[in-house]
This record gives sequence, C-alpha cells and structure tokens, in this order.
Amino acid sequence: MKTFCGRANPTTGAMEWLEEAEDYDYHQEIARSRYADMLHDKDRNVKYYQGIRAAVSRVKERGEKAIVLDIGTGTGLLSMMAASAGADFCYAVEVFKPMANAAVKIVEKNGFSDKIKVINKHSTEVTVGPDGDMECRANILVTELFDTELIGEGALPTYEHAHKYLVQEGCEAVPHRATVYVQLVESKRMWSWNKLFPVHVKAEDGEKIIVPPPEMENCPGVPSVCDIQLNQMPSSDFTTLTDVVTMFSVDFSKPVQSASTYYRVQLEPVKSGKAQILLSWWDIDMDPSGTINCSMAPYWVKPTSALQWRDHWMQCVYFLPKEEPVLQGEKVFLTAWRDEYSVWYKLQKAREEEDKADVCVESPVCRCHAHLLWNRPRFGELNDQTRTRRYIEALRKVLNTDSVCLCISDGSLLPVLAHYLGAKKVQYIIPYFRYLHFILVFKANHLEDKIKIIEARPELLKPSHLEDKKVSVLVGEPFFSTSLLPWHNLYFWYARTAVTSHLTSNVTVLPQSASLHMMIVEFQDLWRIRSPCGICEGFDVQTMDDMIKDSLNFRESKEAEPHPLWEYPCKSLSDPQEVLTFDFRKTVPQHCLSTEGSVNLLRKGRSHGAVLWMEYHLSADISISTGLMQISNEKGNCEWNPHCKQAVYFFSSVIESETLSDPGAVTYAINFDTKTGEIAMDFKL
Ligand code: SAH
Repeated sequence: MKTFCGRANPTTGAMEWLEEAEDYDYHQEIARSRYADMLHDKDRNVKYYQGIRAAVSRVKERGEKAIVLDIGTGTGLLSMMAASAGADFCYAVEVFKPMANAAVKIVEKNGFSDKIKVINKHSTEVTVGPDGDMECRANILVTELFDTELIGEGALPTYEHAHKYLVQEGCEAVPHRATVYVQLVESKRMWSWNKLFPVHVKAEDGEKIIVPPPEMENCPGVPSVCDIQLNQMPSSDFTTLTDVVTMFSVDFSKPVQSASTYYRVQLEPVKSGKAQILLSWWDIDMDPSGTINCSMAPYWVKPTSALQWRDHWMQCVYFLPKEEPVLQGEKVFLTAWRDEYSVWYKLQKAREEEDKADVCVESPVCRCHAHLLWNRPRFGELNDQTRTRRYIEALRKVLNTDSVCLCISDGSLLPVLAHYLGAKKVQYIIPYFRYLHFILVFKANHLEDKIKIIEARPELLKPSHLEDKKVSVLVGEPFFSTSLLPWHNLYFWYARTAVTSHLTSNVTVLPQSASLHMMIVEFQDLWRIRSPCGICEGFDVQTMDDMIKDSLNFRESKEAEPHPLWEYPCKSLSDPQEVLTFDFRKTVPQHCLSTEGSVNLLRKGRSHGAVLWMEYHLSADISISTGLMQISNEKGNCEWNPHCKQAVYFFSSVIESETLSDPGAVTYAINFDTKTGEIAMDFKL
C-alpha cells in the first residue's frame, strides 16, 4: 500500500506530495534506532547478564522454577541471557512488530526456541492463564525500558501494570532499583539555551540594547527533556553549587505507582552563585545489594564514565523557571515533580514556601511562545555574542539611511539590528508565520511601528506589501526552523529568487553567498550507532545488523544524517574542503550544481564517514561557519559550532589506513539538484 504525505520541501519551500511506502516509518525507526548502540553498550550488557544470573540463582535457591517476563525484548537479548543462566521459561514481550519478528529469528538462530516465547504485544495487553499468552505469572521481571530521563519511555505505567497482573508478589526484578541524582549548577552556557540575553548594539547614535521581553524572562519553558552528552561539557563552562544529591529512587521488585507525585530534598550550597540549572542522571542496581551498578554519572562524579560511551542514555539538563541567587551554607529546598512520563524541578528558599509544594504543580508550559519556536540550540545561537557581532559588522557595511531592508529568516534578530544600525525602512518576512514571540520582543523594545512584519510567503509577496518600494538590502541569517540538514537553510536562496521582482537592480544580498564544506573524519564513538554488532555477549544478533542495513538501504541513495558534533568527538583525517558554492546575488539556476574530486587522507585512522556543513559569507571578509570552527591540535581533534547540527554521511564500510606514509585518498561526487533541493553524494576510497 502507498500513502501520500504532503509537506513543504525544507530547501525549496515548494509544497510537494511524497509517495510513502507503508513500511517507510518503520524503516526510518529501525535505521535511526538505538538498538545498535544498545548492543554495543558493553557495560550495560555485562551488568544485565550478571544481574540476571544472580536473580535466576536466588529463585532457584528457593527451590522455585525460574519464570521470566522480559518486557520490551527488542532483539531478545535479555531473554537469551536468562535462558542461558538457567531460567526454565521466558516470556519475551515486544510491541514493535518488526522487532518482535526479528526476536523470533534471533531466538531460533541461537537455539532458544523451546525456552523463549516471543509475544508481539504491548505488555498491558498480555494475558495470563491456561489460554493466555503466559501460562502463569512470572517470578523474575527483566526490563530495559529507560530513557535518559529514566521514565520518559513509560517505564512506570508498564511496571505498575506488570506488578498488578503479570508477575508474582515478591518477584525478583532486574534491574532491582533505579536512583535519580541531581546537582545544582550555575552555567552561562547552558542558561543561554533557555533565556534570551540582552543584545548590545553599538550604533552611530550610541549603544542600543535589545531587551528580552519580561514574559520570556518569567516563562518556565517547555517540559521536553534536554538530554546531552554531559561528558563533552568542559568543567570551565559551569560551576557546581551543591554536592550531588539523591532525588528519588524506584524499587522495581515492589508494586510501582505511576501517579503524579513529588520528592523534596534540602540542599546546602557549597558555593554562592546563581542557581540556574539542575544536572541530572541516574543509575540502576541490578541486584538488591547494589553490587552490580550501572551508572550514567558524568566525568567529574565518576572519572571512568568517558570509557563507557553510550548514546541511548545520556544526562539531563533541567532549567529552573527563574534564576535565583543562593548563598554558601544557606539551605534551600529542591522539589522534583513528576507525572507518568516526565520530571521537572523547583527551588524554594523558605520553610513557609515549602508547604506550598504539597499543591501539585503542573508541568511547565511555555507562555511566551519563544520556547515553542526556538529550540535550545537556537536560543544558544541567538545569545552567541561573537556571532551577533559579525552580523552587526557586516550589516553596518551595507546599510545606510536610504536602505529599504527586507529580512527573510525565522525568529531572527536581524531586523532589529538593521533598524538600530539606521536602515530607513525594515520589513520582515517570517516564512512560516510563527512570530508570536517576536511581537513580544518588538513590544518590549518599542519597535511595533518601526519594523513591519509581512504576512505573506515570499512567492506571494506583492508590491503593496512593500508599499511599492523596491528592496535595496535583502538579509537573512539564514535560519529556518524547518531545516534539519545544513543545506536546508538554502531555502533563503529560493526565497530570494521568489522576491526578485521586488529588488532594486543593484540590491545587496547578505549573506552574499554560501559554501558547502566537507571533511573525512574518524569518530571516537559515534561510529557505534551505525556499526554491525555480530555477536553480543555470546549471542548471535546478526539478524539485527542485517535488518538495520536493509532499512538504511531502503531509499536508493543513502542519506546524510544530522548530528550536533560538539557532543561527538572526532578527528579530521583530511583537510576541510569547499565542495560547492551558492551565489545568493544571483537567482537559483535551472541546472544542477555538481562537483567531483578527491581529498587526500593526511593522518592514519579509520575513515568512518564524511562531515558536511555550510558556511555563510556575509561579506567578502566576514563569514560564519555552522560546522568546523577549528582543528585544535596535531592529532586532528575538531572543534564544532556548538549551536548547529552538522551532516554526517557514514561510509558503508570503514576505510582503515594504517600507513602514515601513504594514507590514501577519498574520491567524492556531490550533486545539488536545484529542482528538488536535495544533495546526493557518493564516496570511494
Ligand atoms: N531488551 C532489549 C531492547 C530494549 S529497547 C535490550 O535490552 O537490548 C526497549 C524495547 O521495548 C523497544 O523495542 C520497545 O519497542 C519495547 N517496549 C517498550 N515498552 C513496551 C511495553 N510496555 N510492552 C512491550 N514492548 C515495549
């Protein structure tokens, strides 16, 4: 069966209807899933195996048969561990059909078909009894249903149900217990992901300050978790204000309650500062005594943590609704609220306030619209003063008191900068009409009648929108919230083409051009997410590898995928290379832009793939890179723009160059189809 899905093309802006095969969604799910990453997570796997062996022994010592319920079996891995550990029977429940099918194959291939029954159902649909899915209740409950926030994938309601209907009282649970930890910190860098900082603009007539609207200052933001690889956050980017404290734990061997609740702890700051952020992570004890422990603690808490790289579990950053000063030694109360799926925090100072905590507070809701329209990296980008200064410098060069300026970008401060820098007239098209937060910025800065928001998509722009004046300066960052891959922001070029008839003949376009850059890299860890696993803890999981490979090849041309590389260290194996340029001073050409060439490998190493990013040339001598900032040392370690995702194209097989004398070269062919806005690429050693 085919379905048609309508969407705006992120690069060209054109509305298009895509024919999606019925299985498109699940191929995407498998190709981009974290199964491979989990199978590569040695620390996790070893500890699960130890915990399962110990649980089976405890049950056997009591003279009982070991009946296992494995909820969310995935590849069947944990059930196979249980069967190998001597379990008498395992019920392996998996809701996602393609995975349940894979589990059946993997279980059979490993010779466990008589010990493991795969049930393709959500656990809450599973029945127990002589005619049921399970003959009897289980006495061992094994699950791995956790996300970075622990409960975001629905672990609590699943456990609650399982204890009521699927397992015996006093069952053994692996993991036995999970504990959530928090640490209060001050961090300008992380705080800049959540609030708009004042922007200082040096204009002809003195310094102007763009102030954030009070609605934004006081907004609690959105409840969605901010999960990051905290191990990549240098200690110089935050100050810890308290020791690590235990916020709450859940004992999985006892009935679990998923209903909303709260937990409160007293914190004693070890340092005075601004309380802004709670960093949080969890650990799981696989056994009741806590000797088999798997922890997500970051490097300053557990120095070996960097050795246990994983992407399926990271650490969380929670933003307090408002920053508050705390004093060393002066106790404060921290409350964590949670519902079935998420956690949020509040800091309170006095005892009287503490009692109010009993009134259950609802999860944070963004009232200023900014948190719904700007994601966290975008907040960070807008607060990046070095970046803003470059735009100011470039704008100052092209604007004068006669300038009729049009800005095309999503949620951008450029129109405000252009106004302060003296443009005669500033108009602003936000292509996707998401500007409620902008009205607040305009109001707070008394700009409502200074900058005109035009409610028309670029291709529908009429002379009357511009009061019959031609545009002499067209600007864009460019940034569009619909962009996923770096080149999607080339939509600016298409918009520029669409408004051509409204531009003066000698219009200035800023940026004047963009270029696509490429570099071959060796990842320290990220390669694991796309690398076959083969044998995992002695079990053959190749079926899973094949399935991921099939899904990756589902589309004829392999695609690049976006990753924020500041979180994923890599080293450059080639020099960065400019591969394509896009001249915004001209309209989008009819023909494709393509290039072929080769890059020499300069260092020995494993070529996992190519990284691609865009650079914008605001003027002849001012550029902004959304990718590589610099190669920081001899070894080739890279520094990436911290606000942007780069495109990663994983090679289908890893190219290993051992010899330093001749590490080889990689040839490439890259084609930008101006009709579809898509970039196709091919690499060969
Ligand atoms: N147990 C495997 C896979 C863990 S991933 C391993 O440790 O390697 C979690 C899996 O649980 C996913 O495949 C997801 O589809 C499934 N899942 C989550 N909640 C479930 C539920 N309540 N019932 C059945 N399957 C569930």
